[in-house]
Amino acid sequence: MSGTLLWSGEDSATAEHVIGRALVPALIGQPLVPVAALEARMDRALAGNPFTKAGVSIALWDAYAKALDVPLAVALGGPMRTEVAIKCSLSGNGGRLRAGLARAQESGFRAFKIKIGLDVDSDVERMAELRALVGPDTMIGLDANGGYSRADARRAGERLLEFGPAFFEQPVAPADLVGMRDLRGLGIPVVGDETVFGSEDLMAAIRADALDVVSLYVGKSGGPGRAVTMGRIAHAAGVDIVIGSNGELGVGAAAQLHVACALEALGAIPSDIIGAAYYDSDVVRIGIDTDGVRARLGDAPGLGVVLDDHLSARLRDGSSEQGVR
Ligand SMILES: [Mg+2]
Repeated sequence: MSGTLLWSGEDSATAEHVIGRALVPALIGQPLVPVAALEARMDRALAGNPFTKAGVSIALWDAYAKALDVPLAVALGGPMRTEVAIKCSLSGNGGRLRAGLARAQESGFRAFKIKIGLDVDSDVERMAELRALVGPDTMIGLDANGGYSRADARRAGERLLEFGPAFFEQPVAPADLVGMRDLRGLGIPVVGDETVFGSEDLMAAIRADALDVVSLYVGKSGGPGRAVTMGRIAHAAGVDIVIGSNGELGVGAAAQLHVACALEALGAIPSDIIGAAYYDSDVVRIGIDTDGVRARLGDAPGLGVVLDDHLSARLRDGSSEQGVR
């Protein structure tokens, strides 16, 4: 998975350390079934580190689904759908924004979110420029990555309303559930991303009435099975679901797609199953089927991707730090 030190406190070096030190001793020699028991063993052996655990969990679920000879989405209880709408994340103003949009449109993307949360004036300028570039009918969401104070989030939301934002993701700090709840009054659906890692976070956000939508990650959840469980909790609480991203490469992107297809309910906001579009090369030789508008589920067993052995070895020696969120 694609943890970064800045965002989740994990990277490839911490992952290698804790896998060797804690997870391998906890798992080697254990039966594959039930996978949930192996995930529980990982939790007993290692605190935190959900992205690292998710990486291992994806491998376990992939092996389980392959043993059943079914796609992972089927092993997870689906598929409830075989196509998932996706969008692309953009940042920067002026030339940088236009270049990012042109690249995204070339890759086929037709729905977007912009990164905001640093400076309200510059953020409003970015949204105004993007709206003018894509026209009134294109979906644009906002993602502040928790960067605003409560006052700035309200000021930004009020000024951005005229540009028709589809959602307001993580407007204030992750732990500020009251701030998130109060911003729901603006009339833009509030999405919780950094606020919700695991199911305990989701339950706390639900009790606080803090969210319209939760951004579920395979990485934050600790694995595909747990992401699906969290999706069921969110659905039962009337909270919509979007699949979020930390810029996954081909294996992680496939895990996102299978989870999205296994969920009983997936909200109307296009998901971020896009990591591969951010990189020049990938760890898979055959990845998921995507055209920028949708990602489509195949019928191969497990994740349905084929690793590029040469590239996988090279990336193991110098892992990418790029994050998308
Ligand atoms: Mg986000």
